[in-house]
Amino acid sequence: MYSRPFDDHRQPCSLRSRYVTLTLVLAIVVISIVLAFYKDIISTKQSVAEHLSVIQADHDTLNTIKIDLIAIYRNIDLFLLDPSQGNHAETANKLISSSLDKVNDFSSRHPFNGKGLRKKSAPLATKLSQLRDSFAALTALRMDIGRQYPGMAISAFEMTAPQHNISNNLQLLIEEIESGSLEPKAKELYPLLLKSKTLWALQISQVRIYMANRLASFSTDLLISQATSLNHLHQKFLDNIKKLTHLYSSEDSFDGKTVLQSLIKDTADWFTLFGQLRAVSESGKWRGDSYTMKTVIIPLTDEISSAITHLEKWLTLREDTITEQLRKNSDTLSTLLFSIIGLFMLFTLGLIFSLDMMVFRPIASVTEALRSKAYNQESPALEVSDSREIRYLVEAFQQMDVEVNQRQNALEHQALHDYLTGLPNRFMLNQHIENQLITAARSKQSFTLFLMDLDNFKDINDSLGHAAGDTLLHKVARELTEAVQESATVARLGGDEFAILLPDTTKDDSQKLAHTLLHTLQQPFSLEGKMIGVGLSIGIVSYPSDGTDIKSLLQHADIAMYHAKRHKTGFSFYNSNKDFFEENRLSLISDLKSAINSDTLDIHFQPQIDVKTKQVCGAEALLRWRHPKYGEIPPDKTIELAEYAGIIHQLSLWVLDTAIEQCAAWQNSGHSLSVSVNLSVQDLANPDLTRQIDQLLEQHSLSPHDLTLEITESGMMENPKRSINVLKALSKMGINLAIDDFGTGFSSLSYLKKLPVNTIKIDQSFVLDMDHNESDEIIVQSTIQLGHNLGLKVIAEGIEHQDLLDIASHYDCDEVQGFLFGQPQQAAEFLEFLAQTRQGDDGLQPAKQPA
Ligand code: C2E
Ligand code: CA
Ligand code: CA
Repeated sequence: MYSRPFDDHRQPCSLRSRYVTLTLVLAIVVISIVLAFYKDIISTKQSVAEHLSVIQADHDTLNTIKIDLIAIYRNIDLFLLDPSQGNHAETANKLISSSLDKVNDFSSRHPFNGKGLRKKSAPLATKLSQLRDSFAALTALRMDIGRQYPGMAISAFEMTAPQHNISNNLQLLIEEIESGSLEPKAKELYPLLLKSKTLWALQISQVRIYMANRLASFSTDLLISQATSLNHLHQKFLDNIKKLTHLYSSEDSFDGKTVLQSLIKDTADWFTLFGQLRAVSESGKWRGDSYTMKTVIIPLTDEISSAITHLEKWLTLREDTITEQLRKNSDTLSTLLFSIIGLFMLFTLGLIFSLDMMVFRPIASVTEALRSKAYNQESPALEVSDSREIRYLVEAFQQMDVEVNQRQNALEHQALHDYLTGLPNRFMLNQHIENQLITAARSKQSFTLFLMDLDNFKDINDSLGHAAGDTLLHKVARELTEAVQESATVARLGGDEFAILLPDTTKDDSQKLAHTLLHTLQQPFSLEGKMIGVGLSIGIVSYPSDGTDIKSLLQHADIAMYHAKRHKTGFSFYNSNKDFFEENRLSLISDLKSAINSDTLDIHFQPQIDVKTKQVCGAEALLRWRHPKYGEIPPDKTIELAEYAGIIHQLSLWVLDTAIEQCAAWQNSGHSLSVSVNLSVQDLANPDLTRQIDQLLEQHSLSPHDLTLEITESGMMENPKRSINVLKALSKMGINLAIDDFGTGFSSLSYLKKLPVNTIKIDQSFVLDMDHNESDEIIVQSTIQLGHNLGLKVIAEGIEHQDLLDIASHYDCDEVQGFLFGQPQQAAEFLEFLAQTRQGDDGLQPAKQPA
């Protein structure tokens, strides 16, 4: 069951939901701020653009007004120069009006700055209307010559009357004398009158020159000097008048006196008027228009210009204000942007920090723990995180850790121990031996290794069942463990093979222990209701005398055990000079393997003779192996090696192939024969056997009826159930089956009945001596009878001479086989032999006795 290592009441939050919420909130805040500012910025931008465009338009208007002003001025000037030429006054008036309209228009045109603008442009409007009025007045003035030239008016109109009076009165005075009305008392009166008349005329012409100069010249100095000279003349004239007055006072001329009185008055008036004329002519006022220009129009235009400049300045100020607003806006925007960036960076930093704290560090520590786990090191303690994901990860890791540990321990135990008995297995034994080798080499001590194999374990297993077999193995394991000291290692190597590793043991100790073990296990004990004792074969080796490495120690222990088994001695110490086959078993096995593969084995054929017809009816195929170094190896040894090495299937297949091919060849050359092939008991365990044989028969076109397979009685009884199944399958194919070496095994009759065999072969051990040994003869006789009773064919092996043949024939034995007819021989020789036997009419003649 999955349990959380740190179940507390506080439920950790989900990291994911935390980040999602945080990100959402942040996103909403940022988006709202951005949207608000965006809206503001857009509207500001729009209004700023509008303001600026309006201001620009106002600037343009002012510029046109400025240009118009220059045009106005020019037109006024041109008009003043000559009012009769062109229509400058009209143009000027139009321009003034249009400028005024423009000012009035732009001040009312724009709602957002109209108010300020109206206020600001009011002086300009006023000045323009003043200009318009002033210009109207100027026009009128210009058209009124009197007002245009005030001096002319004085000289032409006002001064004319006194001037006439003076001239007339002077003339009257002169005429009074000339007419004789008056006889002047003073002689000088008359010349004085004439002189006065001349002085007067000079004065008048002087005034005319003055006026002409005024009109023709602009030099006031010249005017002043002329006026000064006129003053001199006038002074002289006044002096004359004074003198005249004086003279007339003594004259008797009432009229003259009266005329002189009015003359004096007119002269004073005239001079006053001249003074006025001078004042006008020598000041700027001598031309009315210039004066108005100077005093009204020009100041007005200046004021208009400055009003325009003022307005322009104000507009520029407005512009600056708006631009400033825009700048402020963009400042706000950048502040906002920086704030958002700052906020974002803060968030990112926070995220990184919290991820680091809550995710990366815990993950790193889990990773570290995993790595330590991988290298089997102590892993660091994992911190409890308050994020759900990480906590679950840590929990999962800890759970996994616990389970992996358990599994690893279980696996380690499994890998090093035998599942059935719980004893150390071959792998662990090897490790222990390895350790012993190191210790023993260092301390110069010896140690001993027992290799053991139970006798007839297979039989027990087969007859009592696997459960019983397992119980037996358990018991053996227990007995072995109890029999040795704790320092020893008892191991099960597989099947019924055990080993004991004994540190520091003498040969005597080993021998005693071997006896004990054999004795203990031989004690019958109850198994499945039967009392059973177990036999044991023990091979014993010692370090360093029998080997200094695991391989040689185990090999030699195996040889010693094999020896003990073969010779039924119970136990055996390894002796390097023992049995040739035992000693060379391993190299022989490898030689046999290459012999099968390289086809250097051979098969000899021994004839089988039908007792009645005395004809060769078959041949038994017998294996022959000539070893290149050791010469002829007996077939039973070869078979034993092949069985031991697990290559018996290949070997049997090779024999079957060769024998079937040969038999088919004989049949093809006209010999009607069958062939018998020996099978090992291990062949019955080959699941491919039937298919392979069927394939060979088909390949060489041999009928299954012409093939007999021989299986020893003991072989059949090793695993009767399996034997029956395989034999049934083979029999079904039409193959003949023979029980070889019949009589040596312990087959019960009931079993014999069940087996699908056709033939029994009486073992030669009963035949060879039956002519001398009565009990052998009885066995042979009863076996033949038994076979016949079961409907089987009976073959007697080992018929070495005629007497034996006679006995066999006497008891109705069906076929015989033995040296009497022929030893096993090579295929070619056998064919020759067949050819010879054909020639005899009475069938086969017994061959010579073997040497
Ligand atoms: P086996 O099957 O009983 O073969 C008969 C043995 O008796 C042969 O010995 C044969 O040479 C010998 N023999 C035949 N007639 C006489 C005789 O009159 N007197 C005496 N004393 N012996 C006679 P071999 O060839 O040495 O074979 C020994 C055993 O090896 C065979 O006994 C058989 O069990 C086994 N064997 C031989 N070839 C094969 C094979 O190809 N496969 C298997 N599985 N076993 C084989
Ligand atoms: Ca045989
Ligand atoms: Ca035999």
